[in-house]
Amino acid sequence: MLSKYNFYRFFTFYFILFGIAISILGSFVSYALQVKDIHSEMDQKATEIFKIKTDTILKPFIENMDNTVISLSSNKTIKEFLQTREQHTKNELEQIFLAVASSQSAIMQARLICKDGHELIRVEKDNDKNFIVDELKLQDKSSSYYFKTVAKMKDETVWHSKIDLNEEYGKVEIPYKPTMRFAMPVFQNGNFDGMVVINVLVENLFLAIGKSSAFEHYILDKDKNYILHTNSNFSFNKYKNIQINLNKDLENGVDENGVYTFALGDILKNEDDAIFVFKTKKSYEEELFNKELNTIIIILMANIILSFIVALYISKIPTNLQADLLKAHEKLNEFASIIDKYIITATTKIDSTILSVSSAFVSSSGYTKDELIGKKMSIVNHPQQEKETFSELWSNILAAKSWSGIIKNRTKKGEIYWLEQNVVPTLDKDKNIETFVSVGIDITAKVELERLASIDKLTGAYNRRMIDEFMKQELESHKRDSKNFSLIMADIDHFKSVNDTYGHQVGDAVLREVGQIISSAIRKSDIFGRYGGEEFIIICPKTSSEQALILAEKIRQEIENFDFTEVGHKTISLGISSLIDNDEVEDMIKRADDALYKAKNDGRNKTVIG
Ligand code: GH3
Ligand code: MG
Ligand code: MG
Repeated sequence: MLSKYNFYRFFTFYFILFGIAISILGSFVSYALQVKDIHSEMDQKATEIFKIKTDTILKPFIENMDNTVISLSSNKTIKEFLQTREQHTKNELEQIFLAVASSQSAIMQARLICKDGHELIRVEKDNDKNFIVDELKLQDKSSSYYFKTVAKMKDETVWHSKIDLNEEYGKVEIPYKPTMRFAMPVFQNGNFDGMVVINVLVENLFLAIGKSSAFEHYILDKDKNYILHTNSNFSFNKYKNIQINLNKDLENGVDENGVYTFALGDILKNEDDAIFVFKTKKSYEEELFNKELNTIIIILMANIILSFIVALYISKIPTNLQADLLKAHEKLNEFASIIDKYIITATTKIDSTILSVSSAFVSSSGYTKDELIGKKMSIVNHPQQEKETFSELWSNILAAKSWSGIIKNRTKKGEIYWLEQNVVPTLDKDKNIETFVSVGIDITAKVELERLASIDKLTGAYNRRMIDEFMKQELESHKRDSKNFSLIMADIDHFKSVNDTYGHQVGDAVLREVGQIISSAIRKSDIFGRYGGEEFIIICPKTSSEQALILAEKIRQEIENFDFTEVGHKTISLGISSLIDNDEVEDMIKRADDALYKAKNDGRNKTVIG
């Protein structure tokens, strides 16, 4: 049996276990939520970096170049020169181009081309120094793709070329120079009259936007060629004739988790239709995960510590409840064992097969539990139990009513015991009888006491008190129903001499034997009693005087013929009275007594009807 202290330990342990389980579960849930958070944090970070890179570097750079081209092409001197081609205007223009090119380190070349494609002015950079190209080295650009494109433009707006590697005299220039051209047509009276073109080195620009601590950056053109690769050797792979499989860098393409793409078309405004790709660096992702993991571990530890404290406190409640319950249970068990020990109970099936019995049932019946269970209840019924009692019992309990009454039982050894019994049917949920429960109280001692108070000890016949009772009852009922009611009084002849000759004990034995002879001679309905010393009485209901005479004679003859132990033959004399109108008990007894007296006087061993 667990003590209160053990219960406390038991509940504390379970509450702690419960707390830990909840904490771990909670941690898993919060981990799942945090992972989601991590992805949105990365998403946010990528957007943020993209915005910074474009707003602070890329856009201002492009705008700056746009403005440079616009300021050159809208210059009045250009329009004038294109019309007049005067040398001094040209000189002035050359100085303007030189100044503009020098002001922007990214500008590699700046040129003015006339409407038929010939270069009019070209400024170049060599080792960071800008110079005006000699007139003799000026080229015809009419077949170049940018000339053809810009010449067809209808408005004076800035045109952007795609980004490629600079070529000189038809060959890619080494070291590689990633270049973008900005051009703008010049109109004279609404007609195309020439164009301004600047070649811009975008290497530094790309270096500036192509790096961050959290992501690897790529720029892809519309055909998925690299304009920018995290490894600069692979940038412009198309122009270097290098084949790179996109999947090497982005296993599941641009839709992969942790890969973010942003369109650059609106900023570059060229035919590349480029996209900026951000691929989350493993180190950054791990950093975020570790940060979250640390938080979760701290929360988990805090939860576990909390569950310890809470468990210690709240286990007191169930501990006390459990202890009370245990006490109540013990008390109940005590009661149950008292009931089992002292109350005779049995549960039977509807056909009276015994299902269970109490210890009291076992000890009063003398059978063991095993001998009783599975047998019918009739195992303990006394064969002389009145049949009416049982039929009344069964008609009640089969109608689902309880019954109570007195039942005469018999122990295994054959001894009689009396039970004041209550039989209660128990019903199942469909209101059908399930079992019968009988609860009995042993009233054998009480019955025995009553019997002793009404029986003559020596002969076993009723005593005088009972005879007087029976006489009263029988007389009353016969007065109502029938006049056939007789009384026989019998007295042993010369009994005194038996005592005198053989002693009192032999006299007692003769009295017993006479009692037995009379008992077995009479009918069941006759009542036999000892009325005085050696005087007997037989109440004969529904018996006429003639019938009483026959019985009396039969008894007289049986005694006359009986061989009494030691004494040999003895006789009795008998007197009969039968009921007449207005008779009282005393009247009938007196007439029988008178008749007996007459029989004595007539010589004894006789029957006289009074
Ligand atoms: P009678 O033929 O006239 O009846 O003669 P009797 O001797 O039988 O009659 P009596 O009335 O003179 O004697 C009755 C005797 O029965 C007297 C008494 O001692 C004896 N007696 C009465 N009760 C008992 C008893 O319980 N046991 C014994 N052994 N004797 C008893
Ligand atoms: Mg007598
Ligand atoms: Mg006598």
